Amino acid sequence: MNSLDKLCVHTITTKPWPIETAAVKFSRAGVKGISVWRESLVDRDPQKIRRILEGEGLEAVSLVRGGFFANRDENKRRDAFENNKQALEEAASLGAPLLALVCGADPRQSLEDSRKQIHDGISALVPMAADLDVRLGIEPLHPMYADTRSAINTMRQANDLAEKTGSGQVGVIVDVYHVWWDPDLEKEIMRCAGLGKLFAFHISDWKVPTTDFLNDREIMGKGCIPVPGIRKWIETAGFQGYHEVEIFSDHYWQKDQDVFLEEIIEAYWKYS
Ligand code: ZN
Repeated sequence: MNSLDKLCVHTITTKPWPIETAAVKFSRAGVKGISVWRESLVDRDPQKIRRILEGEGLEAVSLVRGGFFANRDENKRRDAFENNKQALEEAASLGAPLLALVCGADPRQSLEDSRKQIHDGISALVPMAADLDVRLGIEPLHPMYADTRSAINTMRQANDLAEKTGSGQVGVIVDVYHVWWDPDLEKEIMRCAGLGKLFAFHISDWKVPTTDFLNDREIMGKGCIPVPGIRKWIETAGFQGYHEVEIFSDHYWQKDQDVFLEEIIEAYWKYS
């Protein structure tokens, strides 16, 4: 990269920092965007956080995360719907134009059933999302999470689903950690952009060997994901949004977060 203008960092990346600290540190480091995890808003007024972010010159890129639509239990699906409505309100208060969706899966039912519930759940949210002017981003998750986290595992499935909703409010988030292995990735990125549904781009790296399939992500350049190659596809497709660094890592969370942030920025220059 030749500038930091498109650099966004997720609050979960520097989880030990409260959001107020992260805002100051990100801003000083030259980061321009921030994606806010709902965990970092606990016991806080989103509008107050919005003013803090604005004061630091940070753009709220997305709120993370809603979803978990799939459940065999109808009451749980209703709870999830209410929770998603609350997430949309939070995103609007925060001034974040996008809610990232981890769609959900329930191992007690088929993936097809989960996908149907996901479709219905997203469709039901569309009117409210449109009223609040918050877009809904379907993030396909790596198939290792198809048991409990998401029945949407490829870009093709995410594109199909977004298309099926028939709403311009619904699009797709490309996270390299989840989709780098997909032989159809380039084709589906182009298709997604052609549909006007390429909403966001998340970056990190796949550590070899990975010791934990949730909290052992790497900094770009230290794993096996061809991040610059995927970025080229995204940009060729016309994407002009932020490149969002989203790293869950027990290893890095134990380190000095100032040093970690410096390493992220260096990696962003060199390997993204
Ligand atoms: Zn992501």
